[in-house]
Amino acid sequence: MITGIKGFNDILPVEVGVWQHIETTARRVFSRYGFSEIRIPILEKTELFARSIGDATDIVEKEMYSFVDKGENQVTMRPEGTASVMRAYIEHKLYALDSMAKLYYMGPMFRYERPQKGRYRQFHQIGAEVTGVNDPKIDAQVLTMLCHFFAELGLTEPRLQINSLGCPECRPRYREALKAFLKERLDRLCEDCQRRYETNPLRALDCKSAHCAEATADAPAMIDYLCAGCAEHFAATRGYLEQVGTEYSINSRMVRGLDYYTRTTFELVTGLLGAQSAVAAGGRYDGLIADLGGPAIPGIGFAMGVERVALLLKEREFVVSPDIYIAAMGEEAQSEAFRLMCALQRLGLAVEMDYDGKSLKSQMRRSDKLKARFTLIIGGDELAKRSAMLKAMESGHQEEVNLVPAAIALIVAR
Ligand code: ATP
Ligand code: MG
Repeated sequence: MITGIKGFNDILPVEVGVWQHIETTARRVFSRYGFSEIRIPILEKTELFARSIGDATDIVEKEMYSFVDKGENQVTMRPEGTASVMRAYIEHKLYALDSMAKLYYMGPMFRYERPQKGRYRQFHQIGAEVTGVNDPKIDAQVLTMLCHFFAELGLTEPRLQINSLGCPECRPRYREALKAFLKERLDRLCEDCQRRYETNPLRALDCKSAHCAEATADAPAMIDYLCAGCAEHFAATRGYLEQVGTEYSINSRMVRGLDYYTRTTFELVTGLLGAQSAVAAGGRYDGLIADLGGPAIPGIGFAMGVERVALLLKEREFVVSPDIYIAAMGEEAQSEAFRLMCALQRLGLAVEMDYDGKSLKSQMRRSDKLKARFTLIIGGDELAKRSAMLKAMESGHQEEVNLVPAAIALIVAR
């Protein structure tokens, strides 16, 4: 038996209803906010991710699926979407049409991580990006849209946490203050954090090791080091969130794993998925487009992990049941059932039948199992009268109906 690869999952028919519901809800909500879909390739030049995400990040250091292809090109299966969307934005000069672009994407991402619940090697993200707006109203709008999406799914978890990571003017000052603080406690940090003390000291704040959490418990906070511009931006973002009733809390230890973030950063966090607590995350990236060779245009965006959203929704029923199951006895009735099924499907109903001539009892059992709303029973006697028995499965109510597809469709739609 050939099995799938560890960390690469099949999404089976019983699960796919939840996925489709998440995707449809995202498309519906995002389009109300003026977002259009962009579809980006899975494979990109490795340098795109090395340059944008940053060399000293977990993703670039150890999680990328990179290889040399037959043409000797160094390529990587995308570990996230923002870099590719911005590459496409610059390459196709989308900014020439309108400097503000609102784009969303959905699809698989690839990271070489240790597979566990809510963490896989192929996983899926739905993400959105806005370019061209410095004003904090857009920060509040993007966050509000994300919360609106979760509310539309009927979820009260996850909860929004925000922080500001400052800008190239104020972050270096904070970095030095944090380094001075960590220097006294280096021996208490995990190996990873000791190693990246020089290259990426901020990571010690969101390290999952309990030792690092304890050692950095009263570390200085970025929001106390913001320059006037960043402090004003953060205060205004909070003001707009409050104005529209989007609930949030401040998490001054949130540093995010990618280098390109500036100013507003955020996560949607849940207590229901163990260590995999971030369901969605994102932030502003005001320098990224210029870093990738484009014009100096700011951006902000997020990505959510679809597997984690699906886990939060898992108890709900999303399997589509037939409107009608047709049970037929005898060859002639079976052939009539087939004709009727095709006609009803063309009228827009979900219809199922038995193809193998099983007993009536086993056909009724299958109708139950599929949770059909109605069962249409066609027997010899009824067929002679061109009629059949239509049974509403929940109430048990039965009525004799003519074998006329449009008439049956009308009754089912009642
Ligand atoms: P984590 O801290 O859980 O590793 P991250 O900071 O690496 O998350 P991002 O790069 O910000 O995550 O990606 C955004 C979202 O994508 C995450 O909040 C999460 O829901 C999802 N995600 C990230 N990595 C994985 C993975 N390996 N498997 C499943 N979902 C993932
Ligand atoms: Mg990660």
